[in-house]
Amino acid sequence: MTGNKSSTKKELIAKENFSEWYDNVLLEAKLVDDRYPVKGFSVYTGWGMSIAKRIIGMLEEKLEENGNEPMQFPVVIPEDSFQKEEDHIEGFSAEVFWITHAGNNELERRLLLRPTSETAIYPMFKLWMRSHQDLPIKMHQTCNVYRYETKATRPLYRGREFLWNEGHTAHVDYEDAEQEVRAAVKAYRSVYDRLGLSYIMLKRPEFDKFAGADYSIAFDTWNPDGKVNQIGTVHQLGYNFAKAFNLTYEDDNGEQVLATNTCYGMGFGRTLAATISHHGDDHGLVLPPKVAPRQVVIVPILFKGKEDIAEEYAKELYGLIKDAGIRVVLDDDNRLNPGDKYYKWEMYGVPLRIEVGPREAQNKKATLVRRDNFEKIQVDEANLIKKINETFQAIFEKLRDKSKAKLDSLVVDAYDMDQLQVYMDARMIVRVNWCGDPDCAFNIKDMVSGEIRGTRWDVKEEPTGNCIFCKDEAKYVAYVSRTY
Ligand SMILES: [Zn+2]
Repeated sequence: MTGNKSSTKKELIAKENFSEWYDNVLLEAKLVDDRYPVKGFSVYTGWGMSIAKRIIGMLEEKLEENGNEPMQFPVVIPEDSFQKEEDHIEGFSAEVFWITHAGNNELERRLLLRPTSETAIYPMFKLWMRSHQDLPIKMHQTCNVYRYETKATRPLYRGREFLWNEGHTAHVDYEDAEQEVRAAVKAYRSVYDRLGLSYIMLKRPEFDKFAGADYSIAFDTWNPDGKVNQIGTVHQLGYNFAKAFNLTYEDDNGEQVLATNTCYGMGFGRTLAATISHHGDDHGLVLPPKVAPRQVVIVPILFKGKEDIAEEYAKELYGLIKDAGIRVVLDDDNRLNPGDKYYKWEMYGVPLRIEVGPREAQNKKATLVRRDNFEKIQVDEANLIKKINETFQAIFEKLRDKSKAKLDSLVVDAYDMDQLQVYMDARMIVRVNWCGDPDCAFNIKDMVSGEIRGTRWDVKEEPTGNCIFCKDEAKYVAYVSRTY
């Protein structure tokens, strides 16, 4: 082999040490750089942004299929609009960034950076909504929002600026908004499902719903450190914002009728964090082929005197794979030896590596190496594309099934507080019987530092005993966990 340079291979960090592993993968795989000099604000770097863009694309396509028009609203909201819906102000005012000056002059009308955009959007909806023929109005936008988080920040999980997509809609009546809620849930599921992420769909308890919502549905995923990660939410807003913003339209009889609203948000940072942490291993990132910026890497193995034959063949395979619409990179940077290249592309989570040496070239074969389990597959050039696509599907299914099996293993039942404490310390997601009283929820949080996250939205679960805390009759099966 040429290039007898000593390997620069770095120590691998076991995923068991999740926190250290995560920080290392973010930097080494060029996902996010958290060294930006403002706390809570991070830079999405090349590989991370390329993955995020693919996730964004999946969601935007789905929403536009559903009839949501793309829009882009200003980042600033005037104070008077923000203060129209009481619960909303109460929920968000502690986290708002204010703009108070323009140059040296104090602004007469203070502006805030959107923490979410309902109060930016509804004054415009009001202008667009005259008769029932103007409804529904459905929009979406991908943008950054700003919240002065006081809890510890963590790149992608919790920042003070975060990248998301928000959908906002207005409807003729409550039932139409209900249908929208179901459509949005379906759109979100299709994205998470294609990423191979497992999740629980929970209706949040009253005390934890979105500020100004009738009810909120959330997608919670597991995280290796035992804190549940909320990756998306869908809210039925009912008439709350319509009343505050006077969103009315003229019905068939010429009467003014109050509209209803929904809104929903998918955090791309948290969705990316889930993709990293569900599928990654000791060697770094493992990406589902659909979102991998490069799906195949070809590494020529050069033997002295036979360099040409392997290089030529590598180029031939590169052309073949590229023409098949697969995102492929030929790593012909001969400053690195093959071992270093393997290390690098494994860290990046590229789903398939193709090793090409003189023997492969002579026999018109290729050796595929799966990133998820390092299995080696020999294939004839004639069957290469078919085999690559089959292997992509196999990798995806393996990642999806592993993520699901992990979630299933984390969900357990507890019937008394001692048991709950044991499971919380073991970082499980615990099902408990609950009477529905918020006081019991607060007491549980105080005692075991786990929060009642809600009740299943997609499945009806019947209580199997009395409330775990007060021992009164239980109305719900609730999920308790630690959380980001
Ligand atoms: Zn109770």
